[in-house]
Amino acid sequence: MTISAGTYARQLSLPGFGVAAQQRLAESTVLIAGIGGLGGATATYLAAAGVGRLVLFHPGRLERPDLNRQTLMTPSGLGQLRVDCAAEALHRHYPNVAVVAVPEPITADRTPPFLVQSDVVVDARHNFPERLLLNRLCVELEVPMVEAAMNGAEGQVSVVRPGQTACLACRYGDGDPGWEPLGFSVLGAVSGMVGCLAAIEAIKVVTGWGDPLEDQLLTFDLEHMIFQTLRTTRDPSCPVCAGSRPTPATRTAPAAAEPVGTSAATTKTPTMRPLERQMRQSVLTLTVAATAGLLLVGCGASSATSRSSTSSRTTGSRSARVSGTINVFAAASLKQAFTTLVAQFEAAHPGTKVVFNFGPSSGLATQITQGAPADVFASASTKNMGQVVTAGQAVSPKKFASNVMEIAVPPKNPANVTTLSDLAKSAVKVALCQVAVPCGVTAEKVFSNAKLTVTPVTQEVDVKAVLTKVTLGEVDAGVVYVTDVRAAGSTVKGIQIPTFLNASTLYPIATLTRAPNKATATAFTDYVLSPAGASVLSAAGFAKP
Ligand SMILES: [Zn+2]
Repeated sequence: MTISAGTYARQLSLPGFGVAAQQRLAESTVLIAGIGGLGGATATYLAAAGVGRLVLFHPGRLERPDLNRQTLMTPSGLGQLRVDCAAEALHRHYPNVAVVAVPEPITADRTPPFLVQSDVVVDARHNFPERLLLNRLCVELEVPMVEAAMNGAEGQVSVVRPGQTACLACRYGDGDPGWEPLGFSVLGAVSGMVGCLAAIEAIKVVTGWGDPLEDQLLTFDLEHMIFQTLRTTRDPSCPVCAGSRPTPATRTAPAAAEPVGTSAATTKTPTMRPLERQMRQSVLTLTVAATAGLLLVGCGASSATSRSSTSSRTTGSRSARVSGTINVFAAASLKQAFTTLVAQFEAAHPGTKVVFNFGPSSGLATQITQGAPADVFASASTKNMGQVVTAGQAVSPKKFASNVMEIAVPPKNPANVTTLSDLAKSAVKVALCQVAVPCGVTAEKVFSNAKLTVTPVTQEVDVKAVLTKVTLGEVDAGVVYVTDVRAAGSTVKGIQIPTFLNASTLYPIATLTRAPNKATATAFTDYVLSPAGASVLSAAGFAKP
C-alpha cells in the first residue's frame, strides 16, 4: 500500500510519528479477534489510520440487538455473517486497506497460520476460553497482543509482550468459570471507546510511537468517569508464559530513531467512586475478575500482600485467608478516598466486606482505647494514633498520606474572601473544626504562621461538618483540607493558602492488635500502603507523607 500524504497529513505531523511510522503501519497486519462494538471500532480506526491489512476473526451472524453498538453494521445486514458486513463497510470507507474476513472462533489449529502473519493481535473476544487460548497462542508464537475488555460501562486495556510483560494468564489464571458470555450489558459508546483505545495501542506496538500499556492495565468506569493506570507484573509460575523468551525486538522497535513520549504510568482519577459501586461489584464478572487478578498479582508488586496473594492465588487458598468483615475506623477527611479504595479492595478480595466508622480522629481513638471492635485505624493525626499505640492497641503505625489546608467559600463567595487575612475580619463568618480534632489543630497552625487571630462563629466536630456549613451558606468561609474542597466539587469554591503559610497533617494507619479479623485487616492496611492505594489517595488530592 502506498502512503497518501494527503490522507494522513494530520497524523504525520504528530510529534514522534512521521513518515517512517506511517510506512510501518502501511506494511503491517493486525488480527482482530471479535468484531462487535469493540473490535469493530478498533478495525475502523486502524483502517482510518492506514493499517495495511486487517484480519477479522468472528463467528456468527448479525442480529438486531447488535445494532446498538456495531457501527460497521446496518439493518440491511441482519442475518449475514458479521465479518462480511464489517469487511464490506471497511472496504467502502477505506478502499486501500486489505481486509481478510474469517468467520471462525479462535481455535488452536486454524488460527495460528493467521497469527504468524500478524504484527499485533487485538483480543476483543467476549469469553474467557477464547481469550486465554488466544493469549497462549500469542505467547507461543511471540506475537504482541492488545488486550481489551468491557462490561457495562467499564473497560480495561493492556498490552501483552510475550516473554516481557504479564500475559493474560498471569492476571486471570483460568478466567472466571461463572462468566456468562452473552449476558453482559453494553452501552455502545463504551465499547466504541475501548475499541478506539485498543486501536491506539495497536498503532503504538506496530510503529514504536508513544508508550504502550506494557505491564500496565488501564481501567475505567465511564459511568462515573474514573480512570486509573495500574502496574502489573509477570507471575513467575504462570503456566503459559513462564520460561517464554522475549518477543524479538525487530517486531516492534522503530526502524529509525524517533522520539517517543514519556512514561504515563500515572493514575488519572478525577472523581470518586460512589458507594453504589460496591453494590454493583457483586454482579460484575469479567471486569471484576480482571481487576481482582490485577490487584492480586500485579499492581502492588512491591508489597508483601501482593506477593503472598500471588502465591496463594496459585494454590487456590486466597479466599480462606482474607475474607469476612472488617471494621475500619477512619478520619472523616478520608471518607471519599477510602470509599473508592475499598471498592477496589473488595473486588480484589472476593468475600470481604469493609464496614467504615468515619469520624474525628480523636473520637475514634477514644472509642478504640475503650474497646470498640475495630480492625484498622486510619488517623488524620499522629497524636491520636499515638494514644492508640500507648494503649497497646497498635504497633508500628505507618504514614500513608498528608494533607494541607484550604479556604472553602460558597460558590458565589458572598463575603468576597480572597486571602487568609480576610478571615480575621469581624464581618466574615468563619467555621473551623474544634481544636481537639486534627483539622482544628492544623487550621490553628496556619493562623499562627500568618500571625492572624481568627474568631470563628462556629467550631464543628469534624471537617465534614465545617464543609456542610459552607455548602449551606451558613458561614462565609471555612478552613478545611484541600481534599475536602476537591471532593465537594462545585458546591464550594477553594481558595489556596500560600505554601509558606500552610500547615499539613500526617495520616498514619495500623492494623489493631486486637483486630477480630487480623488477616483481612492486614491485607486492607497493606492495600492502603500499596501503589494502588497511593494512586487513589493522590487522585483525591492527598500528598505523600
Ligand atoms: Zn503469563
